[in-house]
Amino acid sequence: MKRLIDKLRNEHSLTGQEYARLLACQDTDTLLYMQQQARETTHKHFGNNIYIRGLIEVGNRCRNNCYYCGIRKGNPDVERYALSRENILECCRKGYELGFRTFVLQGGEDPALTDQWTEETVAAIRRRFPDCAITLSLGEKSKEAYERLFRAGANRYLLRHETRNEEHYRKLHPAEMSPTHRLQCLQWLKETGYQTGTGIMVGSPGQTREHLVEDLLFIEQFHPQMIGIGPFIPHHSTPFAAQPAGSVETTIRLISIFRLMHPAALIPSTTALATLSADGREKGILAGANVVMPNLSPGEQRKKYALYDNKAAFGAEAAEGLHELTQRLKAIGYRIVTDRGDYK
Ligand code: SAM
Repeated sequence: MKRLIDKLRNEHSLTGQEYARLLACQDTDTLLYMQQQARETTHKHFGNNIYIRGLIEVGNRCRNNCYYCGIRKGNPDVERYALSRENILECCRKGYELGFRTFVLQGGEDPALTDQWTEETVAAIRRRFPDCAITLSLGEKSKEAYERLFRAGANRYLLRHETRNEEHYRKLHPAEMSPTHRLQCLQWLKETGYQTGTGIMVGSPGQTREHLVEDLLFIEQFHPQMIGIGPFIPHHSTPFAAQPAGSVETTIRLISIFRLMHPAALIPSTTALATLSADGREKGILAGANVVMPNLSPGEQRKKYALYDNKAAFGAEAAEGLHELTQRLKAIGYRIVTDRGDYK
């Protein structure tokens, strides 16, 4: 098994069967070896530096009805909000003062939010914060919209493919959503010139080891600059309310595999990981992650962006908790750096 890990570290590629063996492995020593190899790989590329991104949750209105998501259109219990442009710029200003040089604008696919409004918002951030990177995570759009936003100054785009298996995709989404279109969007984002991120939820309902192998092979071939993986966590008013959460251990294992597969990738230790396990953020970093995304949204709105139950948004998960985060990362031998942290 260690031979497989060495092969992945040296060649950055395995066959489906080989990935399946890594996923099935139960041997603690081997798993520790994989983590250690992944950690060394991260150190080689990034030293002990952890990049921070300020996450601004711009709104929770959404046209989609993904079965797993707390802000799905069909959830009547959500108090909907949309930040104004001034609100967003104010979040950026606060973030800039705290040392953030990347702003991530994430939100539901709000039908009322026009591409023009988003374009003007991106342009306004670009004008006021010329030295910052702008990341968008606003879902599926037309190629033209992606191009307009890129020209307005956006640099990166996060769009998880969620699952590469079509049948599984259909278990997670209603019929009007298309896995082919999501993959098409990812292709457009890359062609447009964005640093592109994709990823999955680990342990989403119906996910099998075979599905994960398909995800691994897809991400190997697609070669995203960013890889976002976090455990699925149920939300009480979704069709998946009674489903179990994904496994922290499998999430961490996947972080290590992705690090060995794509050594220079930007891999966050996600909020979902920190929500599920008190030291989840640290576990992710020790497994090879090199990015954290503290929440910069206005405090009064954070609770409304509840993708899943008990989502962490305060303390070390919050921008204003940067000191706590710094101390916690220091305790495991890492330091926060405030440069933009572009993919190289
Ligand atoms: N609308 C955009 C999109 O579809 O990419 C961005 C917002 S969406 C809420 C961001 C991500 O949240 C999704 O890609 C999904 O993986 C994750 N997510 C949603 N519900 C979740 C849950 N119950 N547990 C864990 N992650 C979840």
